[in-house]
Amino acid sequence: MRNLVIIGSGCAGNTAAIYAARANLQPLVIAGHEPGGQLSLTTLVENFPGFPEGIDGPVLVDNMKKQAEKFGAEYQHGTVIEADLSRRPFRLNVDGDWVETSVLIVASGASARWLGLESEKKLVGHGVSSCATCDGFFYRDKKIMVIGGGDSAMEEANFLTRFGSEVALVHRRNEFRASKIMLDRARANPKIKFIAPAVVDDIFDADKGYVTAVKLRRPDTGETWIRDVDGFFVAIGHIPNTAVFRGQIELDEEGYIVSKGGAKTSVPGVFHAGDVQDRNYRQAITAAGAGCMAAIEAERFLELEHLPA
Ligand code: NAP
Repeated sequence: MRNLVIIGSGCAGNTAAIYAARANLQPLVIAGHEPGGQLSLTTLVENFPGFPEGIDGPVLVDNMKKQAEKFGAEYQHGTVIEADLSRRPFRLNVDGDWVETSVLIVASGASARWLGLESEKKLVGHGVSSCATCDGFFYRDKKIMVIGGGDSAMEEANFLTRFGSEVALVHRRNEFRASKIMLDRARANPKIKFIAPAVVDDIFDADKGYVTAVKLRRPDTGETWIRDVDGFFVAIGHIPNTAVFRGQIELDEEGYIVSKGGAKTSVPGVFHAGDVQDRNYRQAITAAGAGCMAAIEAERFLELEHLPA
C-alpha cells in the first residue's frame, strides 16, 4: 500500500516525483511503456530553461529521475494494464502485480502517432521528429518535409518555414482535415509546397544515421519518386495513454483527461499531469510545471484527509 503512485516517467511524472519525494510521500513511479517519455525520443533540447548550451533530452529526463531518487522516489519498470479507481485505495495492475495507492497522479503522456516504417523508427531523433517546436531550429536553410493534413501539420509547416529553405507538406488525400483558416494560411505561404495525394513508402538513410531523402508514392496511380529531405516531421496526431482509465476517469472524445481545475480529474484523489491532459502546449517545461502542480495537490489532498475532524 503506497501513499502515492505516479504513472509515467516523462517530464511530468519525474517532476511530480521530485516534489512528492521532497514532501516525504515516498512516491512510487511506474515507468510506463516509453520510459522517459517524449524527451527520450529527442536529441538536443534547447528550450528548457537553465541550460544555455542545451541538453540532450534523454540526459535531461534521466537527471530528473536521479533527482527524484535522491529524495526517496522509487521507480518500477512496467506498464499499468488495468486499474480500479472505483474506491480507495486505488488498485493498479502493473504487468500482473497489483499495487494499491491512496492517491494517484496520471502522467502517462500522449504518444505521437507514427507512420510505422522501420526506417522511421531508426531515424527518430536523427532527422525524424514529431515536434517542430523542439527540433525546427536544427533545420536552418535545410529541406524540410511535414506529413499530415490536420491543423498540427499546417501549424508545424508554417512554423518550419522560419527555418527551412523549403517545406514540403505531404498528405495522403486531396481533402484536408485542417480547419479552413489554417489550411488557407499554409496555402498562402510561398515556402510551403503541397504534395497530395502522396504517401511515404520509405525514409533514407538509416545506414548513414541521418535523413537524406524520402520515397513517395501517389496512392491513386502507384507512381513513385524520391525527394531529397533533411528534416522529416510527422504531424499525424497524438494518442493519449489513457486506455486503462476509460469509463473511470472522465476523458474527452479523443481520450485526453478532462481537467476539473488545477490538476484535478473527475475522481477525487486522482490528479493529472502533462500531455495526458494537455493537447495544446505539449512542452517539456509545461509538463514539468504540471507535474509540480499535481504533486502539490496530491500532498494537500492527503494532508486534509489526515487533519483531525
Ligand atoms: P488530426 O486532426 O487527427 O489530423 C491528423 C492528420 O494526419 C489527418 O490529416 C490524417 O489524415 C493524417 N494521418 C493520420 N494517420 C496517418 C497515417 N498513418 N499516414 C498518413 N497520414 C495520417 O490531428 P492534429 O492535426 O494533430 O490535430 C489534433 C487536434 O488538435 C485537432 O482537433 C486540431 O484541430 C487541434 N489542433 C489545433 C490547432 C490550432 O487550432 N492552432 C493546432 C494543432 C492542433 P486523414 O485526414 O486522411 O485521416
